[in-house]
Amino acid sequence: MAEVERHSYDVVVIGAGGAGLRAVIEARERGLSVAVVCKSLFGKAHTVMAEGGCAAAMGNANSKDSWQVHFQDTMRGGKFLGNWRMAELHAREAPDRVWELETYGALFDRTPDGRISQRNFGGHTYPRLAHVGDRTGLELIRTMQQKIVSLQQEDFAATGDYEARIKVFAECTITELLRADGAMAGAFGYWRESGRFVLFETPAVVLATGGIGKSWKVTSNSWEYTGDGHALALRAGANLINMEFVQFHPTGMVWPPSVKGILVTEGVRGDGGVLKNSDGDRFMFDYIPAVFKGQYAETEEEADKWLRDNESARRTPDLLPRDEVARAINSEVKGGRGTEHGGVYLDIASRLPAEEIVRRLPSMHHQFKELADVDITREQMEVGPTCHYVMGGVEVDPDTGASSVPGLFAAGECSGGMHGSNRLGGNSLSDLLVFGRRAGLGAAGYVEALGRRPQVNAADVDAAATMALAPFDPPPAGVPVENPYTLHTELQQTMNDLVGIIRTDTEIRSALERLESIRQRIETVTVEGHRQFNPGWHLAVDLRNMVLVSECVAKAALLRTESRGGHTRDDHPDMEAQWRNTLLVCSVIGGGGTQVTVPDVSVVPEPQPPMRPDLLALFDFGELVKYYTDAELAEHPGKGD
Ligand code: FAD
Repeated sequence: MAEVERHSYDVVVIGAGGAGLRAVIEARERGLSVAVVCKSLFGKAHTVMAEGGCAAAMGNANSKDSWQVHFQDTMRGGKFLGNWRMAELHAREAPDRVWELETYGALFDRTPDGRISQRNFGGHTYPRLAHVGDRTGLELIRTMQQKIVSLQQEDFAATGDYEARIKVFAECTITELLRADGAMAGAFGYWRESGRFVLFETPAVVLATGGIGKSWKVTSNSWEYTGDGHALALRAGANLINMEFVQFHPTGMVWPPSVKGILVTEGVRGDGGVLKNSDGDRFMFDYIPAVFKGQYAETEEEADKWLRDNESARRTPDLLPRDEVARAINSEVKGGRGTEHGGVYLDIASRLPAEEIVRRLPSMHHQFKELADVDITREQMEVGPTCHYVMGGVEVDPDTGASSVPGLFAAGECSGGMHGSNRLGGNSLSDLLVFGRRAGLGAAGYVEALGRRPQVNAADVDAAATMALAPFDPPPAGVPVENPYTLHTELQQTMNDLVGIIRTDTEIRSALERLESIRQRIETVTVEGHRQFNPGWHLAVDLRNMVLVSECVAKAALLRTESRGGHTRDDHPDMEAQWRNTLLVCSVIGGGGTQVTVPDVSVVPEPQPPMRPDLLALFDFGELVKYYTDAELAEHPGKGD
């Protein structure tokens, strides 16, 4: 039997980003004991990288803003495939979550009259992003950590133990979720430093592990984004939805090669920056798609007027939703109008005074100066698409974050549904706060209502330990040894080249063949050395998650024979109304478990419930006909107007 350190908690939250921390706070406020487990140091989650801001219809910059307009923008941005209930909850609750952060100690940038300032972002009708310069995510994490410390101080006053109700387990990777009688019973993992095993016995797990971008070569995501939560959920028997929708952010750095993919915030365009091709043309005016015709400025004069006063003109097409801008940049480069290094130009230098650029975009100024030797107050930036965000994730109940597995919850980037086929900028930070809180509440409610707690099965713990240690076992004589770094590079190249921003049937099939080969070769991945901080072993463990999740993306991408949001099929370039309401649901064949390195996945179509009539009535009939089938709109009150 494996030697394992054991802990017992009411709720275990896996992930210490925005979603995880907000869930921890909520479950602890309900009086439960909570463990928060994270792969990296506490305070280093991906959320700290968030730059531009947090979307919430507070109406500070334009009093016409409301939750209804935010809801409309979100559904429109996701091309009407999003889960309308999640979009409703998100739009209604985001302002309260932002204000609540200030009660925890956050300090957002201010308007001259002292209200929280809000900036423009792609796809948002009004300036809506609450921000702290271009370091918003850092402030979000800082204040939620501060709130957690204050709760720990309360616990100390009450019990004499700071960690009586919240304990942080940092640099600890969860590799398996354990069930008993089909319900959550525990989470198994290892300390990254010592390699020793740890078991959390718990009836409720909240997954808040973030995204999957490390399966692509060019990405804005950090080393942590290996799709662990997605894979853990699948192997525990939960479903993933929307996995074909991966967001390629239009503006990543393209030069020098060592920094390719690093994000350039949309806030640059929100603050007036414009995209230009190598001829100096502001090309976005040529790429306003039919579904958005009439909503965006058609001349440079009108676009610039909107930036000064967004009541007097239509918004600039530089701020179309991200999928549209990424495709436009791709076309310009393909058409020979790209920059020397295969991107396009992003110009803020000619648009704002130097001191204003440094004040509003300090991180961008620093990033380009340090990494590319470019002074963005004087020169244009070179930018191009980079893998950024996954819209797909664990299928959850919108109100509680519950997955189909009793006791398993998910929130934040690792959950699916909220953003449909494309996420609007700023809608992730607000999603983390709204649904992190709801998942914390959901988990607490589940634990409170539970009679007997499921008990972890000793054989499952041994199986999880054996699986984690497998990379130390050499393959049988004569079988070639595989190196995790080589396989990871091959996986990234495959996903980048064949399941990237533009896809075709032939390319996706070829990706699936390569993935199948990687899946087989992963069985003989072997690492050297010991369990003490061993990055090769860590990658070998993560690799099985990346391959599993990549299969979901590729299989769903093959099935969806249309182009919508983050999924563009060159061989099916149109958006098809028949596909709008169809979710592609991924699950593990045979129901998961700890026995197979990378289990096989099935992907099946599933309709989602029609939008509630009062929400549907918020949209003009003329807009809906661009997305819906005639049959779906037969009862719409606007029909016949
Ligand atoms: P994260 O913050 O990524 O946290 C994941 C946590 O899970 C980490 O603590 C990690 O250690 C832990 N974890 C993962 N796997 C395991 C495991 N196996 N075991 C234990 N722990 C694990 N969105 C916006 O709305 N506005 C913006 O301005 C914005 N800017 C962005 C800029 C950049 C550069 C990037 C990359 C993203 C940006 N986003 C932005 C997107 C947004 O930051 C993310 O979607 C969001 O922060 C994800 O938060 P999360 O809580 O879901 O996960």
